[in-house]
Parts: sequence; C-alpha cells; structure tokens
Amino acid sequence: MTPNTGDWDLTPYYPERLGAAYQKDRQDFRTGLDQALQETDLVKLLIQWEKLVSDSEHMGSYLNCLRSADGRDQQVGQDLASLQSDCSRMRQLEVNLGEQLKALSEAQLAELFQNAQLQDLDYYLKRLRQRALWQMPSELENLAADLDVDGMSAWGRLYDQVAGRLEFQYQNSEGETITKPMSMKVSLLEDPDPKVRKSVLDGSNRAWQGVEDVAAACLNAIAGTRLTLYKRRGIPHFLEPALFDSAIERATLDSMLGAIASRYDLPRRFLKLKAQILGVQQLGFQDLSAPLPELDNSKIAWEQAGKMLVEETRASYPEFSKFCQESLAKKWVDWSPREGKRPGGYCTGSTRLRESRIFMTYHGAFGDLMTLTHEFGHAWHSHVMHQERPLNTLYPMTLAETASTFAENLLLDALLRAPATTPEQRLKLLDSRLEAAAAFLLNIPSRFLFEKRFYEERAEGEVSVDRLKELMVEAQKEAYGDSLDPEQLDPYFWASKLHFYITEVSFYNFPYSFGYLFSLGVYAQSQKRGEAFLPTYERLLQATGRRTAEECARENLQVELNQPQFWLDSLALVEEDMRQFEELAREVYKIA
Ligand SMILES: [Zn+2]
Repeated sequence: MTPNTGDWDLTPYYPERLGAAYQKDRQDFRTGLDQALQETDLVKLLIQWEKLVSDSEHMGSYLNCLRSADGRDQQVGQDLASLQSDCSRMRQLEVNLGEQLKALSEAQLAELFQNAQLQDLDYYLKRLRQRALWQMPSELENLAADLDVDGMSAWGRLYDQVAGRLEFQYQNSEGETITKPMSMKVSLLEDPDPKVRKSVLDGSNRAWQGVEDVAAACLNAIAGTRLTLYKRRGIPHFLEPALFDSAIERATLDSMLGAIASRYDLPRRFLKLKAQILGVQQLGFQDLSAPLPELDNSKIAWEQAGKMLVEETRASYPEFSKFCQESLAKKWVDWSPREGKRPGGYCTGSTRLRESRIFMTYHGAFGDLMTLTHEFGHAWHSHVMHQERPLNTLYPMTLAETASTFAENLLLDALLRAPATTPEQRLKLLDSRLEAAAAFLLNIPSRFLFEKRFYEERAEGEVSVDRLKELMVEAQKEAYGDSLDPEQLDPYFWASKLHFYITEVSFYNFPYSFGYLFSLGVYAQSQKRGEAFLPTYERLLQATGRRTAEECARENLQVELNQPQFWLDSLALVEEDMRQFEELAREVYKIA
C-alpha cells in the first residue's frame, strides 16, 4: 500500500518521496558530520555546525511531516531513527564547541565576535559558552551521559511505560461501568454530565493510587539525580537551568508570578461564575473543562475556516492575512481527517526553504479553527525571521507562543466585534479565552508551586507519597482559593501529569504562563497603538532568537519585565474579557 503523504505539498522539500535528492542530502550530512568531528579550527567548526543544524532541521521536518501524515509508513520510521542517531553524534560536537569557547579569554571572545563569518552570533555563542561553564570536566560529563541511559532516562521511560499501560474505570451517564486507557481521561473530562466527570477523575485517581509507589520513586529519582548533577556542575540553584533555557532572569520570573498571584481573583471570578451557570455551589477539579450548556455548536467547513481566518484578520493585520491566504493556496496545511493519521497539531518548517507546514486534523469545530489560527501564528513567526541566520532562528519556549497567541487574539477579537456574531456565540468565544486564562493563571502556577516546594524538600531526602499528595493539594488551594471545592481537588496530579517526568527539562510549567502573558502584553500594545505598532511587533519576533526575553521587551516595547506593570497590563485584558463575559452570561443564562 502506498503511504498517504497528506494534503500538503512537500515537493519543495524533495521532489520525490524519499527519492534521490533526499538520499544525497542524507549522505552529505553524514560526511559533513564526520568532517566536523575532525575539525580543530573554531571558526570553521562553527560554520560547519550551523550547516549541520540547518540540514538536520530540514530533513527532520520533512520526515516528521511524512510520519504524521501516515503513521503506518515504516520506511519513514526507520529513516527517522537513523537521522536521530546521527543527531545524537551532534551532541558531541556541541560539547566540543562549548569546551573551545570556555577556554577563550574575554579578549579572545571579543575578537571572535568581530569575525565577519560569525556576524550576529554573539548571543548564540555567549549562551553556548555559559552552558559549557556549567559542565563538569569532559570525562565526568561523558560518564554522566553514559549512566543517564540506565539512570535518569530509565526512570522517565519506566514512568512512560506505566502511564501508557494504565487503564481506569468510570460510570457513563447510563450508569454502566466503562474501562478506558488513561490517554482518554482529558477528553472524558469534557463530558457535559457532572456525574460522569466526577467518576472519571475518581476512577483515574484510583488507578494512579495503584501505582503511586512507582510514580513517587520515578519522581524522587529524577529530581534526586538532577540535584546531584547541579551540585557537581556548580549550578547555584535548581531553578537556574530552567531559567537559562527560558532566556529569562529570576527577577523576571518572580515579578510575573507575583503579578499573577496579585490577580488570582480574576480567573477565580470566572470559575465561580461558571459554577453558577452550571448550577452548583462550587466547581471541583474535574469541572475545569466542563462545557457551557446549550451553546451553538454548528460546524464550519474547511474552505469556510480558511476564508474566515483570511477575511477576519485583514482589517487589523493585512500582511498576516495575505500570508495566510498565500500559504493556503500553496497547500501548506495537512488538514483532512483520515485513517492512519496521527493525532495532534503542530507547525514545522525549514530554515533552508524558509517555508512552514501545518499539521492538524480539521473536524469543523470552532476549536479546530482556533488551532489553525494558532499554528498560522507560528508560521508567521518563522516567516518574519527569514533574514536571520539559521542559528538565530532558535527561540526559547517562553517566546515561542508570542505569535501564535497573538494570532488567536486577533481572530477572536474580530469575531467578537463582528455584527453577525450572536450573544451565544460571543459567550462561547469568551469562554474559550477565559478557560485558557484559568489554566495559565491558576493551574500552571499551582504546578510551579508544587514543583518548587518538592525540589526544596527533595534536597533533604526522599519525599513520601503522602507528602507529595499534601504538597499538591496545598499548591492547588493556594492558587484556586475559594473558586474550587477544597474537598474536590486532585491529590494525584503530581502522578498523572506527564510534564513532571520529562527528563530533558525541569519546571515545564512557568514558560506556559510566561508565553501567554507575554503575548497578551504585546497584544495590549498593538490594541493601544493600532497598525503603527505592527513593524515593531515584527522586529520583536525577529529578535527572539538572538535576544533574551528582557531585551526583546526593553528594545521593542520599552518595558522592564522584572517590574510588575507589564504583567498587570496583560492581566487588564483578561479583566476586560471577564467583564464582557459576566454581562453576556446574565443575558444568555438569566442569572443574577
Ligand atoms: Zn503553539
């Protein structure tokens, strides 16, 4: 059977599926990698490194597109594994680069920045050097890397295996007992029946209780290994690696979290009103994604969705609208539902092509239109960076959602303003935006509070299951306050949330809130300054790969991220949404 390659046009990558042009690229890549591993001249090595990074991105993006379009394509699976094994050899090159940079004096480093071939790479090189300064002697780093396979990574794999096999039981609205894999939990929590949602959370937590010792052992081992390595590497605080990856300073994180905490009242107001709409005293943790009753659920055809995106954004951002229109015409999106297609949505691309591709499955729900818009925001981000050199197109997670969230807000606001939009539809639009606000402003902070306190206690020794449950519930109470029933929280969230078990990265939480509020703050400025702000917005996006988040904000928005004002301005937009939502809820649901 010929594999399905999707609706998108992949011929700009390679004219023929895994054909001669692709094979030649693969061969050249291997040869280039061997040569670079022998290279001793730092400048030459850096040039080769940049080409390898760009080539591996190009081929990786291509193979991922093929694999997502048809998960049954085994040949692509093999090619991907082979590319990944070559890429792990690139890690060795990166260590070599770091070592060489570390050995340079400040004067030698300044001289290197003057080299014409390395123009604009100061930021990238400084970061590479900083990472190297946090390395143990290479012999020890190599030992740590070897032990990692059967150490920290093995704990992560064990967790994935246990979570992947876990099933749970719940009662559906007819009262029948149903068994489902854990992967279904999130979508089942969107059930309109409150009894079903309660049964899903209770049932899934009973399953987690059955493996609580295993989950706790994994969590303790992963954090314990990290703390040991940090000490050996001379890293002063367990938050430092996450801050470094996020390209922000501690003061910025504290100022953002402080601003969020000072306005916990906003998302809490939303949850309390939602409880009223749903006719209960207080919501429970299982109700956070509960749908609003009796709202318009009409479908939008695919062609109509593309048209809406293009037409509704034209007035406020003509260039973006034109970009979406052209990309749709050039077939950059794989959207059709079909067998063998993988779930999820993402935007990928190649700096070599200076083009992006969007993967998603479009079923016609409003959420699908928002996914399309979100991913087009990512594509636009890459597009405005087209003049940057490849090593300057890599941006941190904290800045990665700037353009995607901006695009969502652009479309939502246009739809909210449109005269044809009914009050019910407006309520639904605002509900989706406020539900996201509640997640970023309450749920994510509760994860951060938990993880930080867990690391503090873990430094003193292993943390027991009972204590983990206690820490989790405390963090949830602190963030959600009286907006959730204290008897209906989620003590097993530390076990069920995969993010705590990713071994490559710690504190996989605060960058979400940061990205959300940062983008909202940028959007707030565009609302104030109108179309005149758009060139500044694009300059900001262009700089995300060669500036810290603080520098991006200072140079383009003239604001200091380590001060609360910027964050409070972002939160003011949430307040405006909340005000409108309250008004509409009174009108539509006739509540007091
Ligand atoms: Zn995104």
